[in-house]
Amino acid sequence: MFKKPKPKPRTAKRKQRVVEASKCRFCREKTVAVDFKDIPTLQKLVTAQGKLFSRKRSGNCAMHQRSSSIALKRARFMALMPFVG
Ligand SMILES: [Zn+2]
Repeated sequence: MFKKPKPKPRTAKRKQRVVEASKCRFCREKTVAVDFKDIPTLQKLVTAQGKLFSRKRSGNCAMHQRSSSIALKRARFMALMPFVG
């Protein structure tokens, strides 16, 4: 006769959580404010259209997201970053 396979005993699987020191890239580098002249850093925070990424996407904390928003607007005004495209 066909014997039903016994279900495997469920072992308590523990999620291995990697403890991150800090999620925000600026907090990790202990940057006080985002510099509007730092174009390579600002490039990493914007989309191809030049829009600023959300906090969820960029991983910034609230303080540095605000700072990067201001920095991006300044960089646009100083023609270092594009408004569109
Ligand atoms: Zn931060």
